[in-house]
Amino acid sequence: MKNESRKKWGSHTRLNHPERVEPKGLNRSLLSPIYQSVKFVVSDEMGYGDQFIYSRISNPTIRQLELALAELQSKEDCLVFSSGIASISGMLLGLLKTGDHVITFKELYKPARIFIRDMLPKFGIESTLLNLNDVESLEKAIIPGKTKLIHFESPTNPNLAIADIKKIISMARKYNVFVSMDGTFAGLHQHTHFDIDLMIHSLTKFGNGHGDVLAGSLAGKKHLIAQIRQMTISLGATLDPHAAFLVERGLKTYLLRFERHAKNAKEVAHFLDKHPKVKKVFYPGLESHNGHQLAKEQMTDMGAIVSFILDPSLGLNADQFAHKLKLIQFAVSLGATESIICPTHLFFGDDLSSEEKEEMGITPFSLRFSVGLENFEDIIEDLKSALED
Ligand SMILES: *Cc1c(COP(=O)(O)O)cnc(C)c1O
Repeated sequence: MKNESRKKWGSHTRLNHPERVEPKGLNRSLLSPIYQSVKFVVSDEMGYGDQFIYSRISNPTIRQLELALAELQSKEDCLVFSSGIASISGMLLGLLKTGDHVITFKELYKPARIFIRDMLPKFGIESTLLNLNDVESLEKAIIPGKTKLIHFESPTNPNLAIADIKKIISMARKYNVFVSMDGTFAGLHQHTHFDIDLMIHSLTKFGNGHGDVLAGSLAGKKHLIAQIRQMTISLGATLDPHAAFLVERGLKTYLLRFERHAKNAKEVAHFLDKHPKVKKVFYPGLESHNGHQLAKEQMTDMGAIVSFILDPSLGLNADQFAHKLKLIQFAVSLGATESIICPTHLFFGDDLSSEEKEEMGITPFSLRFSVGLENFEDIIEDLKSALED
């Protein structure tokens, strides 16, 4: 706004319409700038549908992140949300209509399970919840013409059950049903070769990776993403541009971080597995894990989460054990740089029956450990002290 009339303006006008700094031509900023603006000047050079208008609908920083995420996941397009859960609820509300039926699994992350089982019925959408290891029941649970979606997680939160993805997809294709997967635990770079219609990630975890942003994404075919994008404009779970910038920055080191997380987790899993005061370890890379074979076929990295059950002979429950650790912090969430542990009974099963919790390995002695980027020797030393001193 290099405008001669500026000089004539009063101080309030000049304060609100300063001279703009715009780098010219190829002298662009090397990193994508943060467009921290709710609105954009409407141009007459193109159709309104082709331009940025209002940041709840679209914003260049948010779009930049979506392109980076689509690329990383080898998907046609991507849509980001203000949290992982918003990407799940947004997908469900954008895809389904009254009268539809959804099949999912009891092992789902608790807020997702609650949304599907308890909230979708308010919209006239019913669901069936199966056990993840009981894919045999899948065909029986499909109601032809009514079942619209099979939604699953792999590995599951908190106890790392592994879904038989090929079986789920082949059943879905047979009955013309959509498949959505929450791949948060496996990370953005895995499962990209499967024909999954909609892939969800809580970017709050490994995507951003630094534990300072809530965000979620949904990736898939262009037409499906376009349909859900249109519907979710009215949901309003938009990611803030500054948060989008932070996630995009985090993504640059995603592959490096994941590699080290996974390497550390493997060391930790093997240490815990051999320890007499640990009753059971849930980590797909261990041969004793009942999803080990499937995990080997489906994943290249076994991830960074190790869940385990303490042996009662230790004389500590999960809460006491978590408080005893010094380096590893007692906190929720996962996938950040620092090691975090939480007793699973506190956060994951209070909407389930005690038999269901037992079945899933959620007991007063169970912990979920998100292995961080520290030196693994220090992590193991901390666990060793709490198990032995
Ligand atoms: C954390 C998590 C979510 C929810 O993500 P938020 O960003 O916390 O809303 C969904 N699915 C899985 C598997 C998760 O671990």
